[in-house]
Amino acid sequence: MKNSSPIPPDSLEYPTCPLCGVDKPHPRKRFAFPPFGVIQCTQCQLWYLSPRLREEEMLKVYADPHYFQGGSDYGYSHQQGSYVDQEHSLRLTFNKFIRQLQRRGMTGGHLLEVGCGYGFLLQAAAPFFDSVTGTDFDATAIAQVQKLGYQGIHGGAQNLPASQLYQVILATGVIEHVYHPLAFIQQLRQHLHAEGWLILATPQMNSVWFKLQGQQWPSFKIPEHISYYDQKTLTDLFQRAGATHTVTLPYPHAFPLGMIIKQLGLSLPKWLAKYPVWLPATMFAVAARFEMGSS
Ligand SMILES: [Zn+2]
Repeated sequence: MKNSSPIPPDSLEYPTCPLCGVDKPHPRKRFAFPPFGVIQCTQCQLWYLSPRLREEEMLKVYADPHYFQGGSDYGYSHQQGSYVDQEHSLRLTFNKFIRQLQRRGMTGGHLLEVGCGYGFLLQAAAPFFDSVTGTDFDATAIAQVQKLGYQGIHGGAQNLPASQLYQVILATGVIEHVYHPLAFIQQLRQHLHAEGWLILATPQMNSVWFKLQGQQWPSFKIPEHISYYDQKTLTDLFQRAGATHTVTLPYPHAFPLGMIIKQLGLSLPKWLAKYPVWLPATMFAVAARFEMGSS
């Protein structure tokens, strides 16, 4: 963990709860990551970052090409290793998740992945859909996705073709970064087929890992993770956005053994470090449907 760059006080803001808009944090439930803090809303129980970086300051961090190679050095980093170091484990994770979607009848038609990175999930999903499309703020990643032969769109959902509808819209590891989650869902809904599924996967707050690790929980990625959802608060978010039906999905995640061992302060020979280890309930997902006519 490191806290390198000094942060000017005027880059910080004290938001109301990003889920319910109320400003009633619990007086004692908080984790301190100076100058940041993670607090819990007494109204809807969402945990969120306050103070946090103003959105325009956060966007500057994401615009730095180094961010995608191994995280920000603007705040607290748990040195999880870069996306590419985790490639094998991520591919296993995505394959398993897509197979779960297939078993539940949540595949077929056109897939949109928001925040697709290098396209590992798109590759896992492609055999199960008529087409796969990804968006990402990382231009290098989008170039890679296009090289794979998929449609890659640089930027966010606002850059999607207005008339294009998708049967499945999936965002994994995105919602915890989003400053205006209700607006985000409303925007994606514009692109969701009437009988489509919008699926969000995110680190699981209140999981056994969180309870064991507390302040050391690796998903306290400060300052970029600004909201911490559990099954209740993520379902609540979808319902506030007009969802008529929600389903919670497990999201077992593989991690390179070396990454887990490193967190314990030990190291492993390189040939062993990439060995995948499955951990349940580090993340979870909720799939939602929005019936026609609801708002
Ligand atoms: Zn709230």
